[in-house]
Amino acid sequence: MPRAQPIKAFQELQDHVQLFCDLPAEAIVKQDVLRLGLRFSDAAMTIAAGFKPKDYFIFSFDLIEIKDMQADEHLRVPEEIKVSGGPFSLKPTVISVRINPHSPYLVDVQDGQLCLLNDDVNLGEVTFHPIPPFYHESLSTGKKMGELAPVLEWGYLIYLTVYRMCQYFNREEQCQFCDINRNFIQQRKAGKPYTGIKSADEILEALGHIDRMDQEAKAYTLTGGSIITGLQGVAEVDFYCQYIEAIEATFPGRWIAKAVVQAFEVGDCQRLKQAGLQIYHPNYEVWGDELFRAICPGKARVIGFQSWIQRVAESASVFGPENVIPNFVGGVEMNRVCGFSDPERAVAHTTEGLDWFMSRGIMPRFTTWCPEPLAALGPHPAPPLSYYGLLLRSWRERFMHYGLRIPPGYGSPGAGNAVFSVSAFMDVLPCEEAH
Ligand code: SF4
Repeated sequence: MPRAQPIKAFQELQDHVQLFCDLPAEAIVKQDVLRLGLRFSDAAMTIAAGFKPKDYFIFSFDLIEIKDMQADEHLRVPEEIKVSGGPFSLKPTVISVRINPHSPYLVDVQDGQLCLLNDDVNLGEVTFHPIPPFYHESLSTGKKMGELAPVLEWGYLIYLTVYRMCQYFNREEQCQFCDINRNFIQQRKAGKPYTGIKSADEILEALGHIDRMDQEAKAYTLTGGSIITGLQGVAEVDFYCQYIEAIEATFPGRWIAKAVVQAFEVGDCQRLKQAGLQIYHPNYEVWGDELFRAICPGKARVIGFQSWIQRVAESASVFGPENVIPNFVGGVEMNRVCGFSDPERAVAHTTEGLDWFMSRGIMPRFTTWCPEPLAALGPHPAPPLSYYGLLLRSWRERFMHYGLRIPPGYGSPGAGNAVFSVSAFMDVLPCEEAH
């Protein structure tokens, strides 16, 4: 992938900040950095060595394979950057790091200060998240805290990937944007200790350190790949329930309990709720039966699109609609294999899904598609920046139209406050709670 022409990338960014002046500039910058990825100078990576590293908490979320990294970036970059100031007077904006050596965005050091450059234009000062004190604690297995219970979102979220594989890969029917199993293999090949299945005991031990030493984290996400034929002799809902039960029995209500799992029937949702789950993320990934079948063939075969969304709707009776927050992968509907080529048509299509859920009080949110080379879709050009501007505009407009509440479990909303780092949906909400 050739580098964008000097200045052209900044010009494009500036044009979009103006074109979408009804949205915060922070949101446009964040989406552009997420869609194009980041590269780091050696000086910036040397500084990053003293800060929280990228922990590869589930997928690779990189635009390049580890084997092709020339400077061991996978061991040297931070989890997130926070950028502020510059020509757009950015309020502090937290952005997840996706390595791309061909990106126009470069984290560098100028005059002794970390900064974000878009080609030669300095977009503002950069800071990295400190290493949380509990990261230095030792565990009885010898594993690292960052492997067992990493934190994201500037320390707000503990991310517990207890099963680092997905059984949809067994029949090559994985979601076409997903590299979870192949990332597991590449991390192991690269020598990283990467735990396939984390035990409840080791999770509790890690959380014990966080409970004792940390006040930043307010929520945890429990997740892992889908379980179709059983794991350790139990079905998916039983597998994930055991962790929630153990955590909530040991640390009752200590953090907001969230889980990313499949769309279950009401009875299984009730089990999750009884275990202590508060926020339910049954991710539908992409809107519409046709795209769902093409992009999520496993989910389509096992559950089906109509059943999936119907189950999501019915789960609101268990968790309350405001606590059902299914994710979609923003931009994957513009893939070149089976997607839209026109951003306006793509967003119009995706907005049908927003209406379907939001009219029921359920709030879908999105992560920004990262075309990982090990995913079935393979390397892809990023969707245009205008797509993300249109999507954010539509998402916020529908959110306001249906009078939804600020979602729980994401920290404070608004530019300068938002910590959700893989899309700007929280950045475009108003700062105040009431609206
Ligand atoms: S269900 Fe889809 S997105 Fe989730 S881990 Fe499996 S393949 Fe990946």
